[in-house]
Amino acid sequence: MKHSAEFWLDRLGQLPLPDKVRIMNVCGGHERAISLAGLRSAIPDNIELVPGPGCPVCICPEEDVYEAIQLSLHEDLILIAFGDMLRVPVNAPKREPRSLEQARAAGADIRAIASPGEAVTIARANPERKVVFFAAGFETTTAPVAAMLAEGAPDNLLLLLSGRLTWPAVAMLLESGTPGFDALIAPGHVSTIMGPEEWAFVVEKHGIPAAVAGFRPDTLLAAMYSVLRQLLDGRYFLDNCYPEVVRPGGNALAQTYLREVMQVSDANWRGIGTIPDSGYRLRERYAAHDVRLVMPSYADESRKRVGEMPPGCDCASVVLGKIYPNQCQLYGLACTPRKPIGPCMVSDEGACRIWWSSGVRDNLAPARAANRAVG
Ligand code: SF4
Repeated sequence: MKHSAEFWLDRLGQLPLPDKVRIMNVCGGHERAISLAGLRSAIPDNIELVPGPGCPVCICPEEDVYEAIQLSLHEDLILIAFGDMLRVPVNAPKREPRSLEQARAAGADIRAIASPGEAVTIARANPERKVVFFAAGFETTTAPVAAMLAEGAPDNLLLLLSGRLTWPAVAMLLESGTPGFDALIAPGHVSTIMGPEEWAFVVEKHGIPAAVAGFRPDTLLAAMYSVLRQLLDGRYFLDNCYPEVVRPGGNALAQTYLREVMQVSDANWRGIGTIPDSGYRLRERYAAHDVRLVMPSYADESRKRVGEMPPGCDCASVVLGKIYPNQCQLYGLACTPRKPIGPCMVSDEGACRIWWSSGVRDNLAPARAANRAVG
C-alpha cells in the first residue's frame, strides 16, 4: 500500500534519531525533486540530505567537452549534443570559444537535441555530411545510444561517447574511508535499467543502508524513512521504494544492447579523476561509428587533470558531497545560471543550479571559511 508524503513526514518525525545523520541522494533528479518540493525544510533538522555525483553534465570530463568544441570548429560536420552540454564551460584561453554555445556563435554547426532518436533523424536528413553525437550521460542515456547503434545507425552518424556508470563513483566514495554519508538513496532511473541489485554492494560490502527511490516526495520520503529505520534497527538491506517502476533485474533488453555495443572501461570524471570501470567505450565492431577512431584527434591529454574546474569553482567538492552548493565562494555572486562558472550551475541536474532555481540565495562560504579557521 502506498502512503502519502504527509504520512512519511509524520513517521520521520517520530524516529528517535541521533543528533546528525547524513543521507546521500546520488541522483541529480532526486536532488531536483527534494529541493523543489522543499523537503529539506520539512524533514527533521538532524537529517542532512547530501547531493551526490549524479549529474552527468557536471562530471563529463573537460577534455571531452574540449574535444567536441575543437571538432565542431575544425571539421566539416554537424555536432549534436544534449542541450545542457552546450553551456558547459572549459578552461580554454579567453580568445577561444570556451563552450559549445560559444563555438556555435563562432560559426560551428552545433545543434541541441533532447533524445538519441533525434541524432538518427539529423544524420538521415544530412547524408552528405558527418554528424557527430556528443553522447554524454549515465546508464539511462547510454542504453538508448547503444540501442541506436545495435539497431543500425546511418553510416554518417559518429559518436563522441562520454558514457558513465553511476555505481563506481559511489563505490569510490565508500572506499575512500570518508564517504561523508551514513545511508544512501539510490537512483531510480538507473535502477530501472540496470536493476536495483547493482546497489547491493553498498549494504553487503560497506554496511550502509540503502533504498532505491523514485522522483516524487512520497517515494523519496519512504526511502529516507527506510534507511533511517534500518540504521536505528541495525538491520541493513537494500530496499526498493520505487517498485512500480524498478523491477528485479532491471531492463534486460537495454542491458543486452549495452553489452553488445559497449564495453566498460576506466574513465575520467571531471573534478574527481579516473574511476575504475566507470565508463563505456564502443566495441571494436562499432569502430566505424567511433569519432575518436575515424576523425583527426583533438584530444588534449594535458586537460586530464584531477579536480579540473575553473578557478574558484568548488564543483568538485559539490559533486562529491563534501560541501553544499552555497558553500562555494562564487555561488550566487560570480556564478549564477545566467553566467555559470562551473558545470554544476549549468545543468538541470547540477546541484548549484537546482539550489539556485529552488530559491537558495544565501552564500555560506564566509561561514565555512570561519569554521575552518576555528577548526
Ligand atoms: S556555484 Fe558555480 S563556481 Fe561554485 S561550485 Fe557551483 S558551479 Fe562551481
